[in-house]
Amino acid sequence: MKNNTVVIGAGISGLLVARELASRGAQVQVLEKSRGVGGRMSTKRVGSAVFDQGAQFFSARDEHFDARVRCWARKGVVAPIANPTSGTERWVARPSMTGLAKALAKDLRVSLKSQVQAVRWHDCGCWEVDVVGGELVRGERLVMASPVPQSLALLEAGGVILPEQLEASLHDLQYNPCLALLATLDGPSAVPEGGEAITTGNLRWVSDNVRKGLAQNVPSAITFHLTPEFSAANYGASENELFTQLADELKPWLGGATIVGQAMHRWRYSEPKTTFAEDHLWLPELRLGFCGDAFGGPRVEGAAISGLALARKIVGTLQTP
Ligand SMILES: Cc1cc2nc3c(=O)[nH]c(=O)nc-3n(C[C@H](O)[C@H](O)[C@H](O)COP(=O)(O)OP(=O)(O)OC[C@H]3O[C@@H](n4cnc5c(N)ncnc54)[C@H](O)[C@@H]3O)c2cc1C
Repeated sequence: MKNNTVVIGAGISGLLVARELASRGAQVQVLEKSRGVGGRMSTKRVGSAVFDQGAQFFSARDEHFDARVRCWARKGVVAPIANPTSGTERWVARPSMTGLAKALAKDLRVSLKSQVQAVRWHDCGCWEVDVVGGELVRGERLVMASPVPQSLALLEAGGVILPEQLEASLHDLQYNPCLALLATLDGPSAVPEGGEAITTGNLRWVSDNVRKGLAQNVPSAITFHLTPEFSAANYGASENELFTQLADELKPWLGGATIVGQAMHRWRYSEPKTTFAEDHLWLPELRLGFCGDAFGGPRVEGAAISGLALARKIVGTLQTP
């Protein structure tokens, strides 16, 4: 039990906390509800096509994060990608966005398909984490690296009461949804190599995963992200309804080719609308931490910085063996 930490969520923030603590000898268990790691940096296979369905690339503006990214690049885990706006350097994970999370999860104790349904603070001074299916996991410390509304629901389900003002400011952290349409084409697309941000209509982003360098056996595999407004208004629409409704807006990107495979993903918590005042939250009296993009900033880099900041805080509380 000594120095035992339970982390909920195997997105980049949770995995970085777990790695940093494990590298200092702490026992860490990561619980992840999905079948794979990566969270919003996940990759999806549809037939023989492969799509980055969430984050498309990331920046490393912070000098410490930049140094870490360059270290990952030397190991082949990430690589720079063309930036059509010639602004900040852009990075992608290899062979696809999930590649970074997979590399971070290596040698960690990560339990997949482990959906937490409640967390309880026990009288003995430890956390009891209730996983769907009956498993009970105990830890001295608890890290919530899931989107904040999901974390608050788990605390509420376990009867954990946070200080009133803090609870109110966490409840204020709302997220935009994002619908992602995934289309396989029978020919080359008209999407530029670095993808393109779209500023008019209902599309927000388009990228061809083949041009982006994801290895696969199809001529084109396009990810379309829809705007927050359209995604909120059409959140329950089916894949067929969306492809039909948006056919005219998708067409210019198809380069005359035909869609031969389609899928969609609904991101309920795509990006935080506002962020918390600090880049992480640690409550020493409860040995409870929060991290993620709602703390460090609404991007991969912000989530990573948040996880690393929380890890530094927790490392200071570890007991020496
Ligand atoms: C469509 C889209 C496009 C984006 N584009 C970009 C981009 O181009 N560049 C960029 O930098 N960022 C982008 N982002 C944002 C970026 O993906 C996120 O900021 C970052 O990945 C968040 O990481 P995180 O660790 O905070 O959370 P997440 O990645 O969301 O990880 C949280 C994890 O917690 C798990 N979880 C939740 N509840 C439970 C539970 N009850 N039990 C167990 N596990 C649970 C989830 O399954 C998830 O794996 C995009 C996001 C989306 C959705």
